[in-house]
Parts: sequence; C-alpha cells; structure tokens
Amino acid sequence: MADIAHCRSDFPALQQDVNGHPLVFLDSAASSQQPAAVIDAVARYQREDHANVHRGVHTLSHRATELYEGARDKLCHLVNAASRSEIILTSGTTESINLVAQSYCRPLLGPGDQILISWLEHHSNIVPWQLVCEQTGADLIVAPINDRGEIELDKMQALMTDRVKLLGVGHVSNALGTVNPLRDIITSAKKLGITVLVDGAQGVPHMNVDVQALGCDFYAFSGHKMFGPTGTGVLWGREKLLEEMPPYKGGGDMILEVSFENTVFNELPYKFEAGTPNIAGTIGFGAAVDYLQSVGMQNISEHEQALHRYMVAKLAAVDGVRLIGTAREQASVQSFMLNDIHPHDLGTLLDHQGVAVRTGHHCAMPVMQRFGLPGTTRASLALYNNTDDIDRLIAALEKARQVFA
Ligand code: PLP
Repeated sequence: MADIAHCRSDFPALQQDVNGHPLVFLDSAASSQQPAAVIDAVARYQREDHANVHRGVHTLSHRATELYEGARDKLCHLVNAASRSEIILTSGTTESINLVAQSYCRPLLGPGDQILISWLEHHSNIVPWQLVCEQTGADLIVAPINDRGEIELDKMQALMTDRVKLLGVGHVSNALGTVNPLRDIITSAKKLGITVLVDGAQGVPHMNVDVQALGCDFYAFSGHKMFGPTGTGVLWGREKLLEEMPPYKGGGDMILEVSFENTVFNELPYKFEAGTPNIAGTIGFGAAVDYLQSVGMQNISEHEQALHRYMVAKLAAVDGVRLIGTAREQASVQSFMLNDIHPHDLGTLLDHQGVAVRTGHHCAMPVMQRFGLPGTTRASLALYNNTDDIDRLIAALEKARQVFA
C-alpha cells in the first residue's frame, strides 16, 4: 500500500507555481489531476500501440484491444460488478445517464408515470430526465432537502409510489458534499419495485463502491474525477435490464450483422458502444484504477475524511465565512460564502494567490436556488491534498477579507 503523504509527488501538474505561488489545487470535484502513471499509459498507447479496437487482425490492434478491454476488467473489479458485460464504457456520467433515459426510460414511460429525483442533483441528473419526460408525457418529481443540504428521506419515501418508474439520486452531492443515505433510499424504492440509478460521479473517486451490495440498478461515473482522462466513464447496469434495453446509438461495433432490411445488435456490453471509442482515454482510465487501488480506497477515504474535518473547522473559524452544506455525512467537498463577496471575485483573488477553487452554481442551480444564492465558493479534496493546502486556503481567504473590507 502506497504512503498517502507521498502521493502528491506522483502528480506532475501539482509541482508548478501559479501566479508566483506553489499551486494549491482544491478543485478535484470538477476534474482531478492525473498521476504520471496515467499520463504515461496514454502516451505509451499513442506512441506504440495506436490502432482501432475489436477490428484488426494485426498486432497493434490486438494490443490496443487488450489494453482497452483490460480497462473494462479493472473497472468491473473496482465496483464489484457481477460481470464485465455490465460495464458500458461511455464518455462520462452525463452520457451514462442519458443512455438510461433514452434506452431504459423512453420505451417504458407514458403519461401518468413519474421519475423521482432529489433537489440535490447535478444538472446531469436532472436534464436527461426532463428530456425523456417531454418525449413520453411522464412527470419529473423532486424530493426536497433541508437547511443542512440533506435529502428529507421521509418526504422522498412519501413520493415513492407505483407511478414512479425510476429514481435517480446522487451518491455524493458535488455542490454540498452531502453523502446520501443510499441504502435507506434504495431499500425503500426496491420495496415498490422502483428502478434506481445512482449518479456516482462524486462517489467512486472517494470511497469503496460495491454496486451489488448497494442494490441499485444503474450506477454512473466519470474517469476524469478519479485521476483518469476526460471523456471517459462508465454506466454499470444489471445485465438483465441492459439485455432488455434497445441501443442508445447506432453505428459500427454495436452490431453483429447489418443488411438494409435488418440489423442484429451485438452482445453486451458492445450493444451500447457504437463507433470508435475513446481508446486512449479508456486505457488511461484503466491506469487510474490501478493507481487508486495501489493507494487503497479505504486509505483514500480515511485521509480525505480527516482532511475534510480539518478544512471545515478551519473555514468555520474564519470571520465572515458561512458554510453552505452542513450535512451530518459529507465527503471531500465544502461550499461556503465569505461575507457578501461574490464567489467569482473571491475565486479570482484566491487564484492570484495560487489557490484553485471552483466558484458559481456547480451545475446544480436548484441547490443554489434552495439556499437563495447565485453561487458559492467550493473547495474540494483529493488524496494529494494535505493540511498545508488548507492552511494556504485559509491564509488566502484572510487576505481576501481584508481586500474586500
Ligand atoms: N454528476 C455529478 C454529481 C457531478 O459532479 C458531475 C460533474 O461535475 C456530473 C454528474 C457530470 O459528469 P461529467 O461531466 O463527467 O459527465
């Protein structure tokens, strides 16, 4: 097991100065940095193995296919899927959720049916459902959150009826860091036979995820939030459901036989992977899984939890800071306001001091509306952060407070 304190040196981008200061990167919830092992795996493929997958008899194509399919096996193992057929490689969480909306929901839904989500969701777990509701006449209904930024479980449960055909819920809120009570939510939904999709974009990078133990039906996540390249992701789905779903996109690789009269679709998981995929990115994604596992998910989780507690305590002690999102269970993310300074102004000032944070609505406008804010400043953690990073954030905030006084 790697020593977590030394992991930072594995990330080349963290070894630079920004605006004259050593970079403090606190925006991993948007996109995490990549370790050299991931960058090298992508470069090796580009230099030595570049070829298309699944369709060549030559050596380079075999090598590319082996690396690409090897990544699928690693991802299957990471989330404990029952079979590699259940791992659909996508461009990210957004595409994974759209796939479920169009392939699972669209043929199933009609007027009177409902899709249930929570108020905490990222736009990726809202808009695809709105689109499919428009297409089918179904309704989107939303479970409220409390002032801490937690889903009101009893109210969500009250909305679960036999009209609800799918429940979409995040594992961890990217805006507030709330860890949702998935077991309770899924158990209640399953009692009524409701299909459950979990948006795991902020779950898999930070904790052990076992999709079989969770008991959901679909789980979506992105490579670039877990040290992999952008444009990579996974939809995990139960094989039985995936078998019954029609393809989402048509094209090469997703077929067994094509004539002008009839097309026979390929078997799982290829049925959902039309066209040349992001081969280089997926190989990098596989290397990212190796990296995560070499550090150990439990190790990562404990490190980030301890650092999150440190960050929250330090932030709360800054004069004028208001924490947005104070859920009893949080992971790796903290949103806040500093007096009435606009988050964009604050973010720019922090950047001048080499501290990278995210500002704005975090693609979760309903959450901002719930708190009556245009946006927040958000610091988010990954395994390479440490207490020095937090101390630098706090010092930069103190300076910003004086500038805006
Ligand atoms: N869901 C959550 C909770 C997210 O944080 C994000 C990205 O910020 C997404 C979905 C969308 O992920 P992607 O842009 O990789 O598809």
